[in-house]
Amino acid sequence: AHLDRIARLNPTLNAFLLVDAEGALATARDIDARRAAGEQLHRLAGVPVAVKDIACTEGLPTTAGSRTLQGWVPPYDATIVTRLREAGLPILGKTNMDEFAMGSSTEHSAYGPTRNPWDTDRIPGGSGGGSSAAVAAFLAPLAIGSDTGGSIRQPAAVTGTVGAKPTYGGVSRYGIIALASSLDQIGPCARTVEDAALLHEVIGGHDPMDSTSIEAPVPAVLEASATRDLAGTRVGIVTELTGEGYQAGVQARFDEAVELLRARGAEIVEVSCPHFRYAMAAYYLILPSEASSNLARYDAMRYGLRVGPDDVASPSAEQVMAASRDAGFGDEVKRRIILGTYALSSGYYDAYYGQAQKVRTLIARDFEAAFEQADVLISPTAPTTAFKIGDKTEDPMAMYLNDIATIPANLAGIPGLSLPSGVADEDGLPVGLQVLAPATQDQRMYAVGAALE
Ligand code: GLN
Repeated sequence: AHLDRIARLNPTLNAFLLVDAEGALATARDIDARRAAGEQLHRLAGVPVAVKDIACTEGLPTTAGSRTLQGWVPPYDATIVTRLREAGLPILGKTNMDEFAMGSSTEHSAYGPTRNPWDTDRIPGGSGGGSSAAVAAFLAPLAIGSDTGGSIRQPAAVTGTVGAKPTYGGVSRYGIIALASSLDQIGPCARTVEDAALLHEVIGGHDPMDSTSIEAPVPAVLEASATRDLAGTRVGIVTELTGEGYQAGVQARFDEAVELLRARGAEIVEVSCPHFRYAMAAYYLILPSEASSNLARYDAMRYGLRVGPDDVASPSAEQVMAASRDAGFGDEVKRRIILGTYALSSGYYDAYYGQAQKVRTLIARDFEAAFEQADVLISPTAPTTAFKIGDKTEDPMAMYLNDIATIPANLAGIPGLSLPSGVADEDGLPVGLQVLAPATQDQRMYAVGAALE
């Protein structure tokens, strides 16, 4: 049924870059046979999943939304893909994304934008717009996303779905194409909080192949997603993440959510995180710095696009690298490589990257102080509902501002969840509520999310 729906709707939505009908059906048949033979299977065995094209899949092309990786077939599976296969989830295919996960609209994909199923003239968020659009349009019941500054949560918000960024290190990054290694985190996309928790438990947990992987067991997120009563839970409203700059309908749904939380027994408190106003600036120094370093591997020598240059008879390796990177990378990727190499260059390092790292610490301390007053923090996930395709492509700053509420969590390594919070009165488009929890306490955000469903 999902494959049929993909065949019918994907030509419009462009949520999938690759559909592996044969592979998905083979897994489904295998699961059927094993179930018929009485084997005890994982509870998600046979439930199909879509995987963001940032995760390496053995034998299946993986592009990260970039021309430079067009046609590249990884020789191994990311750990999360191995875990999906072991639990018996058929992989429907690979979903569209902004190139190397840089963006908030999926318009920076080298393979064309994904469209929002609520209104196909609008963006589905980004960078993981393909995964969230697939889930929203019932092309897949579950999907995998990656979140470096909001790429799971913001697409979830603008497509009316659920998305969770686990604690940094809670899900393995092994085999995930790196954007900014100190910020990147893999997580689940789903239609309910409980579904997200089910998928979180499949992919989460320690992985010796990822040196930043946490040794502790996966937080009890599934158990938490049965919560209905929040008596005794202190919910903090982050003053800096509400009010000015948020669309009226987004703010209205947020205010309603606060009342709902109160009705479920939560105690509402106001907290202030004064350094959040510098989060965006710090992020756009740290992310480009790490990205410029990570993307140095696309040198056209070992893998990736290799071209010309056309006007040189016997080009040097360096000329081939320059020509290939010029042809293989899109504008946003080049912009960030230039920013990052500049911020890291000798003489500027302390002023930019070093300073941004100090701000990062201040933001983490703001969170620590806030979590002394509250068990979880809430805010709208994104400042606006889905905007029109093309509206912000000429204005990088306007695009960056979509992540104003999601970026602090990545800088501090804490978990965040976005869940549907109704639609805005002015445009009828979905609004997301963000719930943040202290590091390793992912279950708290699932409990609060579940109580609101
Ligand atoms: N939109 C943010 C950016 O462009 C976040 C991206 C992400 O989370 N991968 O960096």
